[in-house]
Amino acid sequence: MKKISILICSIILTFYCINMQAQKSCIKPFNYSINIELKDSTLLVNLNIKATKTETGQKDFLLFNRYIQIKEAILDNTPLKYTRSNDTLYFELSQKKEMTLSMQYEIPCSKLGYSKTVASYGDSIYAYPARFDTNQIFCERFNKWYPVLYDNFSDYHVTISVPKTHKVFGYYPKADFLDFARKDVYSFNCFDEDFPFLITQSNIFGQHKAIQHNSTNYEFYFLPRSKRLLAIVDKKPVYISDSKQIDSLLNVIINRSIGALDWYNANLWQQKIDTLSFVETGLLGLAINLRCFIIMDRGLMNMEVLDNYAVSHEIAHLWLGIHTEYLAKGRFFMGESINEYVNLLYYESWAGKEALENAIQDKINLKFGDAPYYTVTFEQVLNERNGNSQYDIIYNKGVAFIHEFRKMIGKEKLLKIIRETYSVPNHFITLKDFENNIKANGCWNEYLKLYDLKL
Ligand SMILES: [Zn+2]
Repeated sequence: MKKISILICSIILTFYCINMQAQKSCIKPFNYSINIELKDSTLLVNLNIKATKTETGQKDFLLFNRYIQIKEAILDNTPLKYTRSNDTLYFELSQKKEMTLSMQYEIPCSKLGYSKTVASYGDSIYAYPARFDTNQIFCERFNKWYPVLYDNFSDYHVTISVPKTHKVFGYYPKADFLDFARKDVYSFNCFDEDFPFLITQSNIFGQHKAIQHNSTNYEFYFLPRSKRLLAIVDKKPVYISDSKQIDSLLNVIINRSIGALDWYNANLWQQKIDTLSFVETGLLGLAINLRCFIIMDRGLMNMEVLDNYAVSHEIAHLWLGIHTEYLAKGRFFMGESINEYVNLLYYESWAGKEALENAIQDKINLKFGDAPYYTVTFEQVLNERNGNSQYDIIYNKGVAFIHEFRKMIGKEKLLKIIRETYSVPNHFITLKDFENNIKANGCWNEYLKLYDLKL
C-alpha cells in the first residue's frame, strides 16, 4: 500500500517540466497542425508544418523526439531526407526561407494488451508506441507514444477524429466539436509542446456522474467493478462486493475531490476551473493531473486510504508544481514535496491532526529495497534529481521536512510563503524563489535548522 502511494505522481511533473525546457530555435513555424485519427486499432498521425527560416548560419534542422517509424515525409513536395540519432530526427532545410513539411505516422495499438515494443531513453525504458487496454489510449510525449515537435513549436492546432463509439479527453479544453462523416472530430488549441490526450471507448464506463458545484462542472467516469479492494489486513486483501458499499466508496472520491478544489481555492488562491473530468482507466498504474482531466488508475483507486488522498494530490497540481524549474536543484522538493504537503493540509482539514501525523510518519518510515535512504538529510532531499529510481522515497521525505518547518513557523505562515512563491504567473519556480519568500517572511533561521535534521 505504501509502495503504491509513493508511485502515484511520478510522471506528472516530469513531462510538465520537460515542456518548459524548449530550446530556442531559429525556425519559426507560422502554421503547425496535427491531425490524429483512430481507425480500427491504428492511430494515424499527420503533422503539417509551414515554417520560415528567420536567421541563417544557425541550426539547420528541426527536431522530433520520436522513435516511431515514419510512414511518409514530404518536404516541399519531395521526399524528406533525414537522419536519426537517439530519439531525434535531423534534416536540412532548403535554402528557401519558407518550407512546407508533412509527416505521417502510423501507430499500431494492440487491443489485447500493452505493446511489447520497448524503447530506451536515458536510464529509462518505455513500452511504445501506445498502451491500449480496456479500449483506452493514452498519449503523451514523455512516454514517447506519439510524435511531437521538440523545438519551440507551441501555439498550434490539433484535431482528433474518433469513431462515434469513442470519446477524447485533452490537456487543453476542446475548442470545437464536429460530427463529420460518422466520426466525432475534436479540436484543440495548444500552447505547450506536448499535448497529452486520452482516447477511450465511451461505453466501458459503469457510471457517469456530472456534478455542478461552485461554478465548476465535475464529470466522473468510473469503470464498472463487481468487487472492490477495501484494505489489506495482515497482508491479505479484503474485498467488498456489495454495490451500495462500492457506490459509497466512489462517493468518497467525488466528495473529497470537490472538497479539495474548494479548500485549495480558499487556502491557496482562487482559480477559475470550468470543467474537470475524472476518468478511470486500466492504464499506467498511477494517477495523473492533465489540467482538464485527471486520470485515475483502477488499480490504485481501490482502497479507501488512496481515495482519501491520491486524487486530491493530483488536484493540488492544478495550483502547484506545474511551473517548476526542470532538473533544477530542489525540483522534486518544489514540484512534488510541497504539493503533497499542501494535499496533506487539506487531508488534515477533514481527517484531523492525528491522521496527518500518521500520514507523515508513514512517509518517514518509507523504505527502498535494503533501505539505503532510511534516513536522509534535507540537503539530500534538495539535491535529488530526475533519473534516480529512489526519488519517490526522497520526495516523500521532503514532505516530512516541510512538516518540521511548519511546526516551527506555523501553518498560516507556511501557506503564505507557498502562495507567494507559486502564484507568480508565467514564471518557472525555483528553490531560490521559495527561499527568498522564506527570508521575506522572517523564517530563514527556522529553515536553516532543517539542515541539522535527519528524517
Ligand atoms: Zn504529484
